[in-house]
Amino acid sequence: MDKKIFDLIDKEYARQNSNIELIASENFASKEVRLATGSILTNKYAEGYPSKRYYGGCQFVDEVEKEAIERAKKLFNVKFVNVQPHSGSQANQAVYRALLKSGDKILGMSLASGGHLTHGYHLSFSGQDYESHFYGLDEKTQLIDYDELERLAKEIKPKMIVAGASSYPRKIDCERIRKICDEAGAYFFFDMAHIAGLVAAGLHKNPCDWADVVSSTTHKTLRGPRGGIILTNNPDIAKKIDKAVFPVSQGGPLMHVIAAKAVCFYEALQPEFKTYQEQVIKNAKILAKTLKELGYNVITGGTDNHIVLIDVYSSKGISGIDAQNKLEEVNITVNKNAVINDPLPPFKASGIRLGTPAMTTRGFVEKDFEKVAYLIDDVLSGNKPIDEIKKEVEELVEKYPLEK
Ligand SMILES: *Cc1c(COP(=O)(O)O)cnc(C)c1O
Repeated sequence: MDKKIFDLIDKEYARQNSNIELIASENFASKEVRLATGSILTNKYAEGYPSKRYYGGCQFVDEVEKEAIERAKKLFNVKFVNVQPHSGSQANQAVYRALLKSGDKILGMSLASGGHLTHGYHLSFSGQDYESHFYGLDEKTQLIDYDELERLAKEIKPKMIVAGASSYPRKIDCERIRKICDEAGAYFFFDMAHIAGLVAAGLHKNPCDWADVVSSTTHKTLRGPRGGIILTNNPDIAKKIDKAVFPVSQGGPLMHVIAAKAVCFYEALQPEFKTYQEQVIKNAKILAKTLKELGYNVITGGTDNHIVLIDVYSSKGISGIDAQNKLEEVNITVNKNAVINDPLPPFKASGIRLGTPAMTTRGFVEKDFEKVAYLIDDVLSGNKPIDEIKKEVEELVEKYPLEK
């Protein structure tokens, strides 16, 4: 037995079990999702697509992939789904390769405004292989500046506009972006990596109804295995996407992960999943409300989704990185986040990003997230000795043990 690695896995389990996990992109996958991920399907090579494989012995993995595709189609009410991307970034790379030539212009939300690396950032393939331009937030409202996006789209004439975000607490106006894309003659690509679970539960509008192509991760609010998917209603785009995933950007699919995606889609189709996502939003709203009452500058004044952004520097004079480190000391995990016109450099940042999906899976309800807000305030205001707060964190998480 590989004692070293399995000991480390045990330690990581203990860490996950004892922490208040507030990283907005994380979640706790179900036992069945994890069983599928750890299954013997990892042994199988299946380059190609169901019934069109380059290897023999694919009769069962074909069924697995077909089932994953059918369930995803049903879940997102869409005509075509590719379930093979190894991650969200791989999915996005395939979308770009399917619809663009290198050097084409793209217009995405800037990283500083809440966009993702793969939306044109210069250190990502998306900023290196394409000519990337950015839109952002309105300084006053801290909401997406759609007028500016429209102006930029007319001026730049991008081949593709990228929407979707990693740290944006509000709904995104798909109708408006569709109109802007039509006027500019651009493809509309929506990356729903963060909000896919909310979309699946019908709590956010389905971007598949407006965008030419949609990508997602499966491990964030959707609560499946680590991976990506690509969805479209357009048969021509669907063909291009399939080629861009395999053989352009990937080799053999991860059949064990595709099986786990199928399990995740099954779970997301159950009525309990909607109740879970409703609780995710309720918890985020109470977290935002309580922190606001405690004197924190909550970006945009609240949230429509699972994310709460707090400007801790303007509220308490503490940087995002210092807040992150102080919270880590009491086993509350968050990440620093830049705010609009941030006076601090990116590695310090003025804000922190909080998310409710993971602890809602553990069973946290409104009163627990109210308590989380008080605990965060205790740490950041230095109201109470650290050991005392740490003990309170322990008592809170012990009520909701993490399934092993
Ligand atoms: C998380 C995220 C991704 C990338 O997902 P990985 O699986 O980490 O590659 C892409 N887009 C957005 C908007 C994200 O939030």
